[in-house]
Amino acid sequence: MLNQSYDVAIIGAGPAGTTLAREVARQGCKVIVLEKERLPRYKTCGGGVTVRAARLLDFDISPVVERVIDSGRFSFKMGKQVDRRYPEPICFMVMRDRFDLLLVEKAREAGVCVVDGMRVAGVETSDDGCTIRLPDGSLHARIVVGADGANSIVARSLDLMRDAAADIALEAEVAVGPETLREWHSRIGVDLGVVAGGYGWVFPKEKHLSIGVGGAKDLALSLRTYYDQYLASLDLGPYEVERFRGHHIPIRKDESPITQGPVLLLGDAAGLADPLSREGIYHAIRSAQLAAPVVVQSLRSDPRDLSAYQRAVDEQMMPDLLAAAALLKVLEWTPDICFQVIQRFQRPWNAACLMFRGEMDWVRVIAKAGPFRRLLRALA
Ligand SMILES: Cc1cc2nc3c(=O)[nH]c(=O)nc-3n(C[C@H](O)[C@H](O)[C@H](O)COP(=O)(O)OP(=O)(O)OC[C@H]3O[C@@H](n4cnc5c(N)ncnc54)[C@H](O)[C@@H]3O)c2cc1C
Repeated sequence: MLNQSYDVAIIGAGPAGTTLAREVARQGCKVIVLEKERLPRYKTCGGGVTVRAARLLDFDISPVVERVIDSGRFSFKMGKQVDRRYPEPICFMVMRDRFDLLLVEKAREAGVCVVDGMRVAGVETSDDGCTIRLPDGSLHARIVVGADGANSIVARSLDLMRDAAADIALEAEVAVGPETLREWHSRIGVDLGVVAGGYGWVFPKEKHLSIGVGGAKDLALSLRTYYDQYLASLDLGPYEVERFRGHHIPIRKDESPITQGPVLLLGDAAGLADPLSREGIYHAIRSAQLAAPVVVQSLRSDPRDLSAYQRAVDEQMMPDLLAAAALLKVLEWTPDICFQVIQRFQRPWNAACLMFRGEMDWVRVIAKAGPFRRLLRALA
């Protein structure tokens, strides 16, 4: 039986929701997380947790890490290839059901009430706080957080994020033989050049490969063909495709509102994934960490004003995301040149590795782009 009133109600038990829940519960707030799926839940995702994402968390994620990545295999239009290696790990591979459950457990340890199998139908705000509509009744909270991913009901209830761009990705878990698993053990694959600004990927897991393709939403039809061709090109030996699914990745337009009165949006609900790499776990956790002090402070002063969170996102996350969007345009226009640069020089790979390790960001990558710096700054 749910209590009827909370300081903070968070919709969605992905990395954004559980990170915020844990951080504000540790400050003594009464927090509930409402998750529509039964936990642990499968999530269509490559499951690449970059070193910089793992570094945001103050607990060990190694119990759910299936592979540690230090190498990349780049291909162009499923043909020419180049292998690159970095002396340190750049990314940890997880299955999202296990990773997200670990975060749920950490939130529960901090005193958060996590209710699964509970689909939120809508949110309304008034001077008195927020009413959350549930299948059988409602809840009251002083602050509501939309951490409910790409098709956020919270954003739709408040008419937010209508101007977001949307990428689409197709992915499946592909069962392969032991030799193929060994081949991809600590290596990811990235294929460029088939769809404008999009790419294909191979992300290895313990018992299978997560293989996907992604690009702008209007490329959805060509992505299906690309997916089949990409699989066929990978020389996987005997394989079986499981859980083939498509999913949106919303991309926030600069300065688009992500707070309204006592409601704020995090992670994918706020369109904060990286438009170039489509990495979103780091941004989900980071947005939650920017929101936490604002939520705690607002509960003490005025829960109807969360605008300090949007300012923090605009100042601390958007410059990097806009820089990524500028680099995406270069990839869209000149995929062949981008591939040649990766093939001939070690530096772009090193820069990306430093970025995924949190030791560099796209803004600084652009700052180091020599004669192209001005053009890239103009695109950002
Ligand atoms: C194919 C694909 C591959 C990707 N690969 C990577 C990758 O390798 N690395 C990476 O960093 N990022 C990747 N991403 C992006 C990443 O998956 C997301 O950015 C990340 O999951 C965002 O986290 P979140 O907590 O904001 O939302 P989510 O993880 O989507 O969590 C939202 C939660 O809200 C719940 N929910 C939704 N609606 C309701 C409702 N009405 N009521 C209650 N609960 C609700 C959902 O069930 C879900 O559990 C990928 C995305 C796609 C589509």
